[in-house]
Amino acid sequence: MNKEAANQELFNFSTADMLGSCGIDRDVAEYGRRAEESLAERFAEIDRVAEYNQLKVIHAFQKCRVSEACLTGTTGYGYNDLGRDTLEEVYAATFRTEAAIVRPLIACGTHALAIAMAGNTRPGDEILSISGKPYDTLEEVIGIRPSVGSLAEYGITYNQVDLLPDGSFDLDGIRAAINERTHLVIIQRSKGYASRKTLSVAQIGEAISCVKAVRPDLLVMVDNCYGEFVEYREPSEVGADMIVGSLIKNPGGGLAPSGGYICGTKECVERAAYRMTCPGLGAEIGPSLNLNTSFYQGFFSAPIVTAAALKGAIFAARLYEELGFAVIPDSHESRHDIIQAITLGTPEGVVAFCRGIQHGAPVDSFVTPEPWDMPGYDDQVIMAAGAFVAGSSIELSADGPIRPPYNVYFQGGLSWPSAKLGVLMSLQSMKEAGLVNIPVL
Ligand SMILES: *Cc1c(COP(=O)(O)O)cnc(C)c1O
Repeated sequence: MNKEAANQELFNFSTADMLGSCGIDRDVAEYGRRAEESLAERFAEIDRVAEYNQLKVIHAFQKCRVSEACLTGTTGYGYNDLGRDTLEEVYAATFRTEAAIVRPLIACGTHALAIAMAGNTRPGDEILSISGKPYDTLEEVIGIRPSVGSLAEYGITYNQVDLLPDGSFDLDGIRAAINERTHLVIIQRSKGYASRKTLSVAQIGEAISCVKAVRPDLLVMVDNCYGEFVEYREPSEVGADMIVGSLIKNPGGGLAPSGGYICGTKECVERAAYRMTCPGLGAEIGPSLNLNTSFYQGFFSAPIVTAAALKGAIFAARLYEELGFAVIPDSHESRHDIIQAITLGTPEGVVAFCRGIQHGAPVDSFVTPEPWDMPGYDDQVIMAAGAFVAGSSIELSADGPIRPPYNVYFQGGLSWPSAKLGVLMSLQSMKEAGLVNIPVL
């Protein structure tokens, strides 16, 4: 054995030991090591995208002249908040849009989407979703499920074109659904918690071209949640008038403690800003408090953090598909978001998986999650999260409704080693529950 190989063995040996200290059996660790090795090429491609996006972000920081003064915040009305205004320029430069609002006072992704839609529609307009049913929480915003204050109450109607059975856009259906009242077309990039495929930026670009060929004046908004920095381009680079997302997912890099963003054309962002605060004031007010450093640093880290989460998702897909479980997407498919669905087939499987994820987290690792009756859901739901920011799903987390086919949705991990530990812990937990046999290698 040459010196390098000997060093390598020593390294592997101590990492395996450390995994052992964390509760991972040798056979699980070894099974994981083989899977990791077999993914080397995929991981290299993820690193290439991450490097490109890291440079894209740094270039935007430099172009917008981010300075030390930007890292301090304002209180009160927040007039002339240099840090806030420059951060918005950085987002716009990175996502190649004319304007952006990036605010802690936007409470979550749903809030950002609601502001973008309400600001850019007027009574009598119709919203057309061309990627099927939107994310659950938007049903009440739009009024698909009746709700106080919904857009439907303001006389804004809604129509939807489902994706085709193969998961692609129904371009003929879209052309046919556009009428003289259609004003805002919405597209959801991620599958969210549906079992469809996630849409690629290229596919989204084709659909936008199709829409604009019918009526160039139509506005297109993309729900970009979970998609940021997964590809080289964002939907705003293929014609979307607005892209919208949450800062406790990818672009916050795990450091932003709250917030949402809307990036897009000057007109769209301005109209959204008048809804975010009020007519006349728009984006001029809204203090950044003491959050600028975490927003900047989080956005700076986001490409690398997103890459870690993607590696964790592909690693989970590979481990579980080789054990015979159905996974969406599988470990070979191209990725357009960070969500991994695994069909575990039994309630015990979902519970064991989530407990493993919890025990692999940096915070609250000693807690044992239980299924519970969550408001708004018919079935019991189990959730695992041991996060620095409550509810943050760029951090290691998993959840699943306790109902057939017993899917679990896994996402996040702020670093690749922590994502890997979480996935291995899920498998260890499945093994201890007698639900899987780890192949002898
Ligand atoms: C997370 C998410 C949202 C917004 O959810 P919030 O919990 O309000 O941040 C919207 N759409 C999709 C596809 C999402 O994944």
